[in-house]
Amino acid sequence: MTTLPSADDLRRRAVDAARRCGVDLEALAGDRSVTSPVTGRSLASVRWSTAADVDGAVTRAQEAFGQWRTVPAPVRGGVVRRLGELLREHKADLGTLVSLEVGKITSEALGEVQEMIDICEFAVGLSRQLYGKTISSERPGHRLMEAWHPLGVVGVISAFNFPVAVWSWNTAVALVCGDPVVWKPSELAPLTAAASAALLDRAIAETGAPAGLSQLLIGGPDVGEALVDHPGVALLSATGSTRMGRAVGPRVAERFGRSLLELGGNNAAIVTPSADLDLTTRGIVFSAAGTAGQRCTTLRRVICHVDVIEELTGRLTDAYRRLPIGSPVAEGTLVGPLVHGAAYKGMQDALDAARQQGGEVVVGGGRRFEEEAPDAYYVEPAVVRMPEQTDVVRRETFAPILYVLPYRTLEEAVALNNGVPQGLSSSIFTGDHAEAERFLAADGSDCGIANVNIGTSGAEIGGAFGGEKETGGGRESGSDAWRSYMRRATNTVNFSGELPLAQGVEFTV
Ligand code: NAD
Repeated sequence: MTTLPSADDLRRRAVDAARRCGVDLEALAGDRSVTSPVTGRSLASVRWSTAADVDGAVTRAQEAFGQWRTVPAPVRGGVVRRLGELLREHKADLGTLVSLEVGKITSEALGEVQEMIDICEFAVGLSRQLYGKTISSERPGHRLMEAWHPLGVVGVISAFNFPVAVWSWNTAVALVCGDPVVWKPSELAPLTAAASAALLDRAIAETGAPAGLSQLLIGGPDVGEALVDHPGVALLSATGSTRMGRAVGPRVAERFGRSLLELGGNNAAIVTPSADLDLTTRGIVFSAAGTAGQRCTTLRRVICHVDVIEELTGRLTDAYRRLPIGSPVAEGTLVGPLVHGAAYKGMQDALDAARQQGGEVVVGGGRRFEEEAPDAYYVEPAVVRMPEQTDVVRRETFAPILYVLPYRTLEEAVALNNGVPQGLSSSIFTGDHAEAERFLAADGSDCGIANVNIGTSGAEIGGAFGGEKETGGGRESGSDAWRSYMRRATNTVNFSGELPLAQGVEFTV
């Protein structure tokens, strides 16, 4: 007996949730089918924008910018405050859409919406904290200061696996910084995107902000490319694969635009002999198997000391055998489906390569519900023992494969952690304070995120999020990431009545 819901039931739930969020489904209708990974069947059909629509959207956003940049930042915060309230009201609706379009289990889908609410709260506070510095001038009667001004139109390209949180990280901050947003969401999650955009449109209308502040362009990579190339886009914030970032980064740079890239990860956890293996196992399983291995911060490599590798592998194997796999909207499920058949093929290819490169699949790797739902791709998360960090381990496979590698010295473990092209997230499980500090030190983990006694995924709002190397170097959402969305002007004000020149230069005629 299948535990999967029927395609008709899901269609009804999706339509109801989208309507409640204010989506005009008739206006959205078109010939592009939206497939739910839950059943592999169609949820709806939507209309895609084309590259030709990009110019109009950017122009409308630029017009809104003309007004919005002079609205005081704390007043701009009002739109984001209202958006946060509407997100709270529609948390369950948006969560349903996230589950149905990308297959996240209910708890993680609601967590994604909570993250949207959290960034709204952060951004409202931020709207009163866009500080510049005052600097001592070397000249008497002079003041040096920096002012932060709105930058311009922000283009946002987002990935399927956080179909709305990433938009909200960018949008909440961009709006308080005085910037309009043109959003090209993942083509795999258009209903979730339309529902979020409808809530923002409502917040904009209710607070009397300019209508053009938010523009939505549902479409494929060609629409993304047109946004990338548009000279009216001051900041292009792109989240997705390193392959996408490699195409996008140079194109934005060529027109001297600003880019913020949040790309692939290949995240590791070091497990030392002093680690609490109960806590470690729980931390690893959530980070590695949660979201069916489809987070940028998913744990993909465990670098384990040889003294505890057998014990840890045994515990992981037991836990993996107990993982409830199934419909993401059913109670108790912890592992939902992969997003599509290509992701499944990617997983099988990686497992084959791992075997060829000396690996042993200890648990998982099989498919579930194939007969009931031949176009849905449910998999058993896999643990693979590897003798060393081979090619397949060094690449990001966007599926639940956890490679377990041995180490003997902490130096060796840190070198393995850093020995991949990506630099997003990392962690160490240890009871030894000195080991933890060495991992966090300048010659420790080279990642944008380095944790202690917690997995690699599940970041909270507040810290800057992003990573180094092929992860793209961008930082979003927390801390001072707002600076990417503003331009800095340095002002020198002379109130001395004289004209002394800096560096003692004399120039009198
Ligand atoms: P993807 O690269 O296939 O697509 C991401 C977005 O880019 C989509 O909206 C797509 O339409 C668009 N796009 C693709 N090619 C483009 C091009 N040439 N020009 C402009 N736009 C283009 O990624 P995906 O499969 O949706 O998401 C999974 C990937 O995203 C993984 O690699 C994951 O690690 C990464 N990711 C990174 C972060 C992060 O914060 N670092 C967060 C989420 C996902």
